[in-house]
Amino acid sequence: MSAVLIDGKARAAALRAEVAVGVAAFVTAHGRAPGLTVVLVGDDPASAVYVGSKGKATREAGMISGEHRLPAATQEADLLALIARLNADPAVDGILVQMPLPGHIDSDRVIAAIDPAKDVDGLHPINTGLLVSGRPGLVPCTPSGCLMLIQEALGNISGAEAVVIGRSILVGKPMAALLTNASATVTLAHSRTRDLAGHVARADIVVAAVGIPNMVQGDWIKPGACVIDVGINRVALPDGKSRLIGDVDFAAASARAGWITPVPGGVGPMTIACLLANTLSAARARA
Ligand code: NDP
Repeated sequence: MSAVLIDGKARAAALRAEVAVGVAAFVTAHGRAPGLTVVLVGDDPASAVYVGSKGKATREAGMISGEHRLPAATQEADLLALIARLNADPAVDGILVQMPLPGHIDSDRVIAAIDPAKDVDGLHPINTGLLVSGRPGLVPCTPSGCLMLIQEALGNISGAEAVVIGRSILVGKPMAALLTNASATVTLAHSRTRDLAGHVARADIVVAAVGIPNMVQGDWIKPGACVIDVGINRVALPDGKSRLIGDVDFAAASARAGWITPVPGGVGPMTIACLLANTLSAARARA
């Protein structure tokens, strides 16, 4: 058996086109474009690349992109003051503070300071609470994109067995909540889980969000399962170059799975597309 490749790039392009249509309608109705402001503290090169691509995608969708790049030594109080200004700015519909923040800043306090109605990363405790309660709110972008890919592959997932590997607040926990809300039977695995292979072997849906290259072995996968690989791991090659690989042993898993996402080109593009969708939803809700 050879898995169907889930084309996250194509699905993300379609979602971005839908958002652009929604943005045009919003401009007609409200006389202004939705605005997304990204805040970056410090000079981590990977974060700078993410912030740059978020800005570009925002403009391409017809929205207003704002950016604040602050030095690594920025004091927490100054960052909180900036967030208060953005909360009060009617032209800003979405606020995203790029993580990780420098160690001297308490990221929980920063996230809690963002107006939940503008929290397009879906990390504010109000939004995580709404998600767990199964009520509408802003949902973290990566798991939201994963759910779209899963539902496109499998259709209705009611009653399906799902195993999510990784319990971060950014990916694993909200993923488990989304799958639960869609009536899957969910196991949330993590570093203390016993017999991970045994859990994965029962799963119709596997979401791997760990950050360890190739840790999910191909022979763990139930034949025909839908495998979503969130991991982004840069590994060195013998020729001195490097490449990105996921948390799943792709070659072996695709021989057993029914559907599988590639890395890159699977979950990654969905994350930015869902950020744009969240910004449009936030703008609509505020209008
Ligand atoms: P975290 O480091 O926050 O969480 C990793 C999770 O994996 C933890 O819950 C940890 O368990 C668990 N874990 C670690 N080792 C094992 C193990 N041996 N067996 C089972 N579980 C284990 O990572 P994130 O959730 O932020 O990210 C995960 C991956 O996804 C990374 O590669 C990241 O780069 C990628 N990512 C990709 C995105 C995209 O857009 N495609 C977006 C966000 C992340 P414990 O809690 O017990 O420590």
